[in-house]
Amino acid sequence: MFKIKSISQLLVLVTGLVCSPALMAQNSVTVDSTGTKFALTGGTLIDGSGAAPLDNAILLINNGVIEAVGQLGSLAIPTDYAVISTEGRTMMPGLWDMHVHLLYAGHTNFPYWHQTYTDQFAETIMPATALQLLQSGVTSARDLGAPPEAIFQIRQQIASNEIPGPTLYASGPQLASPFPEWAQYYRRNISGTANAMAEARALVELEADILKISGAEQLSIDDVRTVTDIAHAQGLLVTAHGRTDAEIEIGLAGNIDEFQHIGAASDEFPDSVMSLIRARLASGNELYWTPTVGIQLRAGRAIEDLELLDDPENYLGLPQAIIEDIQTALQSYNPRVTSIDTVKRKITQLQEAGVTLLVGTDGGLSGNPHAQAMWQEMLTWVNVLGIDPMQTIYAATALPAQLMGVDDLVGTLTAGKLADVIVVHGNPLQNMSVLQDPEMVFKHGVRF
Ligand SMILES: [Zn+2]
Repeated sequence: MFKIKSISQLLVLVTGLVCSPALMAQNSVTVDSTGTKFALTGGTLIDGSGAAPLDNAILLINNGVIEAVGQLGSLAIPTDYAVISTEGRTMMPGLWDMHVHLLYAGHTNFPYWHQTYTDQFAETIMPATALQLLQSGVTSARDLGAPPEAIFQIRQQIASNEIPGPTLYASGPQLASPFPEWAQYYRRNISGTANAMAEARALVELEADILKISGAEQLSIDDVRTVTDIAHAQGLLVTAHGRTDAEIEIGLAGNIDEFQHIGAASDEFPDSVMSLIRARLASGNELYWTPTVGIQLRAGRAIEDLELLDDPENYLGLPQAIIEDIQTALQSYNPRVTSIDTVKRKITQLQEAGVTLLVGTDGGLSGNPHAQAMWQEMLTWVNVLGIDPMQTIYAATALPAQLMGVDDLVGTLTAGKLADVIVVHGNPLQNMSVLQDPEMVFKHGVRF
């Protein structure tokens, strides 16, 4: 596959930017290709590192790259730059969603969705959901479960600018115990060492960016460890679902790097789990967790807000027949809603133990459309869980870039990095819901 490994490689890409006219028309995207030099001036700048915001800021973008960050009065704006006022707005790094599913577009019946649309994932559905993510300010996304042919094709098409979308990091299919037939396209059976070895190696061969295990409670520690050994030897991380205490225990024993989700089966993590987590952190190995709480605590309830689910942005790029199919299904959707107290208690336990939290949404699932998932997740972190807004932004920008090993390229608004930038009305530190409607999205210096 094609991965951008250096700034010079990126410059070639931006200069030779190709945007398929047919696809652009179909997805009604506006690409501002009038210039490659922009000066965003006058607004507040949050650089993503956790540093204090910069008022009256100037951000210079030159040929895809952040050229300089400064303030009005001290940083000169060269005359050949397109000046865009950001007064009253906040400039910040493009967001990272660490848990998406491009194959889903909000339909409520997974078996039906897979049986009906699998052959349309690569050509129709994933290009649309990738576009929805980018429009919502997500410039990097990690897909954790999809048919390998489709998702690695989309990753390549985005990387080579054939289609618009966030820079994609993908696991390919989920590694799991035996599954029902409808799930065959996006799961692989790793029960038993031979299966685990073969499937993990196949994904390494396809240049998966991370491996994902689901349902570890039905696997053995050896199955999990076989996968983590193969991945770690290649410098790849392995993530696993952490919905149940049993799968967390098996995952930790099998050397998992990161968990997804907060389960509600137990009211809090028992001592057996917490002592394993503490022992793991005491060994010097970090443990990451992407709790995906927006879908549990807000989006599940969003069905009550029909206007939000009717927003045309949720269906951007999809054919009318598929839109109607999703909307019909949503009318009889009955979301499972989790106890806020349980989730809060468990998040507090993880924070107190020293687990590092990342922002990810499980975007695409029922009631959690890609266009809404990110701001819902970040708002939930701040308003429901009480997490500091700057910490929340850090966990959606600089931190994911570090974890995925690309913090020399993206993640913060720093001179020399790629210009993945969003501009929002108002101040997200005061009200995270301003992320709902980014006014500008730049990816690699190109404005969409
Ligand atoms: Zn998921």
